[in-house]
Amino acid sequence: MLAQIELRTYNEGMNKYNAVVIGSVNAGEADRLYYFFTEESGLVAAFAKGIRKPSSKLAGHLDTGNICEIYIARSKGKGQITQATEIKNYSRLKKNWRKLFLLNQIFSFIRKKFSEGEKDLTLFNLIVELLDVVEEIDKINKLRIAVLSFWWKLMAQMGHRPLISPCEHSKGRFDKKKQYFFDIANGKIVCERCAKSNNCLLLEINQVKFMRIFFTSSISVAAKIKSSEKDVTALEVIKENFLKYNF
Ligand SMILES: [Zn+2]
Repeated sequence: MLAQIELRTYNEGMNKYNAVVIGSVNAGEADRLYYFFTEESGLVAAFAKGIRKPSSKLAGHLDTGNICEIYIARSKGKGQITQATEIKNYSRLKKNWRKLFLLNQIFSFIRKKFSEGEKDLTLFNLIVELLDVVEEIDKINKLRIAVLSFWWKLMAQMGHRPLISPCEHSKGRFDKKKQYFFDIANGKIVCERCAKSNNCLLLEINQVKFMRIFFTSSISVAAKIKSSEKDVTALEVIKENFLKYNF
């Protein structure tokens, strides 16, 4: 009878998550604090006790970028990971430093800007889609476009969605003969006449096309569109400025 009660109490403090590992830091002598973006509760942090000991059963399942099924036991404070099973291991992605670098920038941003326990299924699905796409990509520009597509969707999801429709001077469409800019402070695409603030960056017509695609198409569709080095670099500068301005 006593054993049954104890078991129930234990289960009540145990939660199962479908989780993307988005980073970890060493803690104590043999422990590590892991960060996850979970399907059930958004950002979740929990300790893996003794994971840096050679005998640990958890190690190896919890590489950054893995999708895992994890169990976390909670009493007070941060939870403790009791079980972790790898569901997807992106082996190609993990061998590519550039892919890892770009993903780590995203994961680090999410760890800093999100609060624990706020469910966001859209973002969870977006992260999984990004990992799936990035795993398969071979060309650097396609990788950079996929990552940019994710960033813009992420910022939109966080309440900063720029205006990407033509301004009132543009008669409902973008004209190849005109020049356009991205207004960082106002978060919109503007024509020469509208570009009054000194925070406007030149946006060539091909880059305007990409800006629209980032919001109307999936990451995998965006990554398939042919891009030049010049376009990708210009788009990265705009994203970086918009990110710094708003977050
Ligand atoms: Zn205008």
